[in-house]
Amino acid sequence: MIKAFAASEPKAELTPFEYDPGELKPNEVEIDIHFCGICHSDVSMIDNEWGFTQYPIVAGHEVVGKISKLGNAVTHLKMDQVVGLGWHSGYCGECIDCNAGDHNFCATAQSTIIGHHGGFADTVYAAANSVIPIPEGIDLESAGPLFCGGVTVFNPLIQFDIKAHHKVAVIGIGGLGHMALQFFSAWGCEVTAFTSSEDKKKQALEMGAHDTLDSRDAAEIEGAAGRFDFIISTVNVKLDWNLYLSTLNSRGRLHFVGATLEPLDINVFSLIGGQHSVSGSPVGSPATITEMLEFANRHNIKPIIEKFSFDNINEAIARLRSGDVHYRVVLCK
Ligand code: NAP
Ligand code: ZN
Repeated sequence: MIKAFAASEPKAELTPFEYDPGELKPNEVEIDIHFCGICHSDVSMIDNEWGFTQYPIVAGHEVVGKISKLGNAVTHLKMDQVVGLGWHSGYCGECIDCNAGDHNFCATAQSTIIGHHGGFADTVYAAANSVIPIPEGIDLESAGPLFCGGVTVFNPLIQFDIKAHHKVAVIGIGGLGHMALQFFSAWGCEVTAFTSSEDKKKQALEMGAHDTLDSRDAAEIEGAAGRFDFIISTVNVKLDWNLYLSTLNSRGRLHFVGATLEPLDINVFSLIGGQHSVSGSPVGSPATITEMLEFANRHNIKPIIEKFSFDNINEAIARLRSGDVHYRVVLCK
């Protein structure tokens, strides 16, 4: 039996929950979980904000641990290896997207916390093709958040061919946003942080931002007209998107990774004039996760975390709900 923490209804406190994962399949591994980050998506899933939560839900999809069981068909991982697991815990490996290396688009990918129990537990099963070895040198305590939040903000650098001379901006300096500042600045870009929090401004500069602006102050945003080649939004709320579009340079892109539920109210003329794009993307492929870990290791990029023990999981989630985390909550064994 796997010992976990589950929510049995929207917004419920998590309670101890045991489940039988069944026999380990030949292509699967078991991970003995040492650390698990808490992403805002865990809270959205616990609360059924997106409408497809299956209860009881064991959330948690920023897992770091050691391989404790190995399926007999797994050849590229070994017992006791230090690994991470993110939003996906298996891919079909056969569809056109998987064949193209875009496993994160696989229509039948297994999500770690949908129809599967995730990382708020002592162990987790996952298909080996979704389990990523962690290179030596990466700080394990803070590595979990790289596996969802980190790769979600790193992946667009690759997808949209962001160059070192580009001027980029990050909206929302939370779990994803604070990692985006570090990645974009190490990439060589000029980075602006849009934040609604006065006390995050100084820290944003320490994390690699060159400038900070208030994400809810229309006059400050207007002052940045025509400035950015690429803006990434990590917020889950509605902001004045037409105003943000006015801060794009020619051919600039406003890119969404934050799961804003309210539909976008975008004026087409804000797109036509400067040939602007609006887009979104999910996490990254296993190959991109591996590249992201190498890049993070080389540039000393590290999530800034607040630690809680697994037994204090409800306190940890309350902390994230407070909106005041600096910058990612991580559960530690
Ligand atoms: P988080 O740590 O809670 O950060 C969200 C940030 O949004 C906050 O720190 C805050 O930044 C800003 N924000 C929140 N409320 C706001 C408001 N009313 N007005 C202005 N700004 C506000 O969340 P996270 O874990 O980084 O996740 C962010 C979003 O990304 C979530 O929607 C999550 O579900 C989504 N996500 C998507 C993917 C994907 O695959 N695309 C992957 C992971 C997560 P400031 O304090 O700086 O203003
Ligand atoms: Zn996540």
